[in-house]
Amino acid sequence: MEITNQKFTIIVTGGAGFIGSNLCNYFLEKGHQVCCLDNFATGHRHNIEPFLKNPHFKLIEGDIRNLDTCRLAVNGVDYVLHQAALGSVPRSINDPITSNEVNVSGFLNMLVAARDAQVKRFIYAASSSTYGDSESLPKVEEIIGKPLSPYAITKYVNELYAEIFSKTYGLETIGLRYFNVFGRRQDPDGAYAAVIPKFVKSLIKHESPVINGDGLFSRDFTYIDNVIQMNELAMLTENPEAVNTVYNTAYGDRVTLNQMVALLKEYLSVYDSEISHVEVIYGPQRAGDIPHSLASVEKAKRLLHYQPQFSFSQGLKEAVDWYWNNL
Ligand code: NAD
Repeated sequence: MEITNQKFTIIVTGGAGFIGSNLCNYFLEKGHQVCCLDNFATGHRHNIEPFLKNPHFKLIEGDIRNLDTCRLAVNGVDYVLHQAALGSVPRSINDPITSNEVNVSGFLNMLVAARDAQVKRFIYAASSSTYGDSESLPKVEEIIGKPLSPYAITKYVNELYAEIFSKTYGLETIGLRYFNVFGRRQDPDGAYAAVIPKFVKSLIKHESPVINGDGLFSRDFTYIDNVIQMNELAMLTENPEAVNTVYNTAYGDRVTLNQMVALLKEYLSVYDSEISHVEVIYGPQRAGDIPHSLASVEKAKRLLHYQPQFSFSQGLKEAVDWYWNNL
């Protein structure tokens, strides 16, 4: 993915989280200056520990709900990669106020700070949850439904604010609608853990993973390296048609939850053959879950020249190897 030799200063908000720490790692390895702003609400110090001795890395421990902190963080920055947010649909159903404060007010603070600091571009983590109750498949960027959760509302509001900041203040923005991202460093623990790391951890412990529903819901699970590629392309594109818009950020294929578990068992059984005998338990359907999710990535291919490198099964193999060696 060698695009340019220029060195930039990049701020990754939420840089101690799953996606953020992978972005920090990637851009540090390419020799850029990277600043991480995080309050460790859901992120972990161990995710950024290896970067702390890198002179090109700076950590600002702070909260995006504080405008002064955001201003301090974006000072002298070329690109903002805004990842900080409270993820998880169930979390937002249990506590919509905090999700709104972080995901909407915090987002607005970052936009204001980025506008005033005259950054080159503001790239942010949007979400496939914005498709809401739309049943059309594959999802194309222009056709969305009504949101199905407070979280989905916050992520859609992000897009609306970004568009207004582009039109009103000339701030260049690009939103990346992530589809069920997975890979190294995604947190397997906690009530709001994502399904793949949670299931990997259960299987390694020979505990039955619990699928909500009959396992026939499907997802466009997206390996982290495809997401990194999209962030880099969004950052560096010089195509004026490619900015001030949103992109599906996915592989562009889908698997059911049942297929995902079967593949997990197959890959983990290489390390521990007992895992092939662990059975799945089926539980009740979860509120706010959409039945099927599949992205069209044609827009990203056309305007950003996106070429996803990892299919679901290739990514899952990488993730399983990482978890086996790191859990
Ligand atoms: P994560 O929880 O691992 O990372 C989020 C990071 O933001 C954490 O390090 C957390 O401590 C930090 N943070 C939270 N509140 C903060 C605050 N008030 N101030 C500063 N930092 C704060 O989650 P992730 O999976 O890496 O998600 C990153 C982004 O991608 C989020 O915006 C999320 O909504 C979005 N997203 C993720 C997925 C996915 O599948 N993982 C899908 C769609 C969208």
